Amino acid sequence: MYKNFYTVRIFLLANAVTIMAITCAAGPGPVKTGKKYKVVAAPFVDDNPLLKKWVGSYNGFPPFDKVKVADFKPALEAGMAENLADIEKIANDKRPATFDNTIVALERAGETLDRVQTFYGIWSTSMSTPEFQAVQKEMAPKLSAFSDKITQNEKLFRRIEAVYKSPATKKLTAEQQRLTWKYYNDFVRAGAKLNAASKASLTQINQQLADLYTSFNQNLLADETDLILVMDKEEDLAGLPQSLRDAAAAAGNSKKHPGAWVISNTRSSIDPFLTYSDRRDLREKAWRMFVNRGDNGGEHDNNAIITEILQLRAARAALLGFKTHAHWRVENTMAKTPENALALMEAVWKPAVERVKEEVADMQDVANKEGANITIEPWDYRYYAEKVRKAKYDLDQNEVKEYLQLDNLREGMFWVAGELFNFAFTPVNDVPVYHPDIKVWEVKDKTTGKHIGLWYFDPYARAGKRSGAWMNAYRSQQKLDKVTTIVSNNANFIKGKEGEPVLISWDDASTLFHEFGHALHGLSSNVTYPTLAGTNVFRDYVEFPSQLLEHWLSTPEVLQRFALHYKTGKPIPKELVERIKRADTFNEGFATTEYLASALVDMKLHLAGDKRIDPDAFEKETLEQLGMPKEIVMRHRTPQFGHIFSSDSYSAGYYSYLWSDVLTADAFGAFMEGKGPYDKEVAKKLRQYIFSVGNTVDPAEGYRNFRGRDPKVDALMKKRGFVKKGF
Ligand SMILES: [Zn+2]
Repeated sequence: MYKNFYTVRIFLLANAVTIMAITCAAGPGPVKTGKKYKVVAAPFVDDNPLLKKWVGSYNGFPPFDKVKVADFKPALEAGMAENLADIEKIANDKRPATFDNTIVALERAGETLDRVQTFYGIWSTSMSTPEFQAVQKEMAPKLSAFSDKITQNEKLFRRIEAVYKSPATKKLTAEQQRLTWKYYNDFVRAGAKLNAASKASLTQINQQLADLYTSFNQNLLADETDLILVMDKEEDLAGLPQSLRDAAAAAGNSKKHPGAWVISNTRSSIDPFLTYSDRRDLREKAWRMFVNRGDNGGEHDNNAIITEILQLRAARAALLGFKTHAHWRVENTMAKTPENALALMEAVWKPAVERVKEEVADMQDVANKEGANITIEPWDYRYYAEKVRKAKYDLDQNEVKEYLQLDNLREGMFWVAGELFNFAFTPVNDVPVYHPDIKVWEVKDKTTGKHIGLWYFDPYARAGKRSGAWMNAYRSQQKLDKVTTIVSNNANFIKGKEGEPVLISWDDASTLFHEFGHALHGLSSNVTYPTLAGTNVFRDYVEFPSQLLEHWLSTPEVLQRFALHYKTGKPIPKELVERIKRADTFNEGFATTEYLASALVDMKLHLAGDKRIDPDAFEKETLEQLGMPKEIVMRHRTPQFGHIFSSDSYSAGYYSYLWSDVLTADAFGAFMEGKGPYDKEVAKKLRQYIFSVGNTVDPAEGYRNFRGRDPKVDALMKKRGFVKKGF
């Protein structure tokens, strides 16, 4: 099966309504092979814990306590060797190709490497060190070449093709037919039909890209880790709430500035600073530091890398017979063509920019009334937006935050999962974790007590962990060999003082529910073949289940039970909830515009063909053509746009969040047209047609089964407040 580093990343928006996330899907990763194969590498790997089967309770669990960075390279090499040996066995089978001896054999292939890559993925996102980065730098091109060796294996492809074209395949189950199609399609998309010379060029391009992606990532991580804003005077902290001061003081200690206050160069530190700091000069400084990540000249600058990535991608698309990289990437999605994706983005762009003008006018008003004597600049946006929020909706995010304790909200999510999915969560203490912050729960069916899977939770920011939030599948569910799933949620919440409850913002709470939606998608999986399991769906569909789950945070059932004041224990007052609801689409112009600017630049970069691109100049010109409001910057500027340059996965695919949100908004309507968010009948359909099917059915068809019709865009426009009242 294909290895997906199931990283579903998420980036907070200013407003809670929509959340961005990312996943790595599509594109053939290394194919795996045989369980039964002996490891064919040097004897010393026998003791390598990364290669061992996962044993113990819960159908086995990852032995995180035994991982050493020095074990990665030999484990990856042994895993690849084993995998290739199995591929040879399948490819050279003397019998005629059948679904069982080819497709099922591939599904069972590469189990060892799959396990190694699970650890490798976790260390790259959450436990990075200079020592590990050196391993990555060496192994990334090797893994890429390995993957090509499989998709370019002529004999193997002929067998897959034979099964795909065989009349016998028509008699297989729908899931088996879809799996066969997927293998065939993925191999063709990866160049299986090319001639030998083209295949060699492709391999070379892929290796160069793998190397560039690693460099891009490491540069970005360096700018996020090394650059900091140090404040050494009390007056520098003007406007910051106590929790931020505490966090900045703690960062001062860990970043070797004891006694000073430090703002790290990550979104979870910068956004609150920009929201609350009264010091306009420091806001500007922090803002510039953040938006210039990867764009500072010097050794960590990403511009030249991006130019090269775009050139290589254009060359690869041409080799594969596609007009541009965008055409190649979008073909294998719900949107099908870049034009369809662009049409949706452009439909939403205009109302979003119009809304920004209104928002800026409101902010300028507040600034004028204060006698600030300024014109709103990008580093003022969050600050004055917060003041407008207070003035217009009488809503103070700090007031809300006092009711949002991380531990309670987590229990709230479990409760929702119980209502909608019939899941029960029990903490477990008998499995190892890779860092003391991580906690683990067993998930069971509430009625039958049947084991469903494990959920790992890694909530806090730390050095070596990338910013944002994401979901990960450590092991995919499958009925073929009766494997249960293991998933994780990862975030970058700021730890408070020792022993005190961690209070999070409404946006963070939304993020929490969002990622949990991905986890539930993985946990609900009920399919036979691992390649089609859980979140292994189209990129522009995968954010639908997660965005949908965000809606349950604001249900009275959750807020009454779980949004309890951290001092009094009293539930959040109804009138405060009302104020939150009234402010629901507040600042949506900003949130949608900063997101869409990134999504549009991504698509246009990848539609530009083989034109040699200067990223900064291209970004500037494109935004000018679009009429980007000068008070807003792209959510991810090109030199730091990890979604699209740290791998292929979200390239020409950042639009996916919007695409998925059309489904999300429309799907929540099904609950509201029924008995509300906890309507059992609708929830049953949601599980049956959306959450449990993975990629066993075409998503458009799955959606129709759930909703009884195709999705409509109206609900999205309404959700974002882009429909004039009275319409
Ligand atoms: Zn997501």
